[in-house]
Amino acid sequence: MSWLQRDKKGLKTQPRLARKEIPDGLWMKCPSCGEILFRQELEKSSWVCSRCQNHFRVAADIYLGFMLDEGSFRETHMGLTSLDPLEFKVRDEAYVEKLKEAQAKSGLDDAVITGVGEVGGHAVTVAVMDFRFMGGSMGSVVGEKIARSIRDSIESGRPLIIVSQSGGARMQESILSLMQMAKTAALLGRLREKHIPYISILTHPTTGGVTASFAMLGDLILAEPKALIGFAGPRVIQQTINAELPEGFQTSEFLEEHGQVDRVVGRHELRRVLAQSLRFFSQERRVVARPETQPAQRQPHADEELPRLLKRASGYPFVAGDDSA
Ligand SMILES: [Zn+2]
Repeated sequence: MSWLQRDKKGLKTQPRLARKEIPDGLWMKCPSCGEILFRQELEKSSWVCSRCQNHFRVAADIYLGFMLDEGSFRETHMGLTSLDPLEFKVRDEAYVEKLKEAQAKSGLDDAVITGVGEVGGHAVTVAVMDFRFMGGSMGSVVGEKIARSIRDSIESGRPLIIVSQSGGARMQESILSLMQMAKTAALLGRLREKHIPYISILTHPTTGGVTASFAMLGDLILAEPKALIGFAGPRVIQQTINAELPEGFQTSEFLEEHGQVDRVVGRHELRRVLAQSLRFFSQERRVVARPETQPAQRQPHADEELPRLLKRASGYPFVAGDDSA
């Protein structure tokens, strides 16, 4: 009998039965090359496609695992949430509702996780953005948590690592999200004055206000292969300058070739490159460190005043929650 014939009508075919038994998400399709990949294998290979080396976008906690020594991470600045001072609404959807939805879906308070940990035995301050939370957009909570992490580095002397993954500033917070660009950039300036290294890692995608502030201010700027990195989208640029854009425009590789990114680093070598860089920086810092041994008296920082000043200026607090770190 032919394999294609059925002796009874309505008999279910074996493949369909087999498919039903496979739980959702056991196999995943590579969005870049279309290869069907076994989820467990993907996890083992740091979520990199074995066929085309596409780096899957991952949650912030998974990314922390690519960089940090096992068991070294301690989360800081938890419990901060936006208060929606502008009472923003798109049609009938309120920003507060969107926030609640994103929090329930991702299990995060907002689009960044901050903390301290170690890379190859070097103590670091880290902040990792998460695209699942409203496209990794930067509102006042993201800005504040990143600002606090920079301040942690300034106070402790620990090098800073920020992993960016963002669609840009959060439009629902309007000018308040744009203020985060100035706040984080100013603090990074202070970090630089203290000769404390900052490594910026750009992942897919890094765009808008994040690119235009802390993401591009690293002493060392690393990028994941084939990540989209830019400020405005290619269509907007094309229409503005009225010219054909070059091949590979706004990719990590293009930016590396043109000097805007120091090195494109795949996930498999990320930990090694980070540890090597941190070792190099620690030797450099010993050379530039001033001979004075007296610890400087801690001066109140201007940025500690900033949230208070801004709060007074607008009449609204920006973020709620206490710093449990
Ligand atoms: Zn692939």
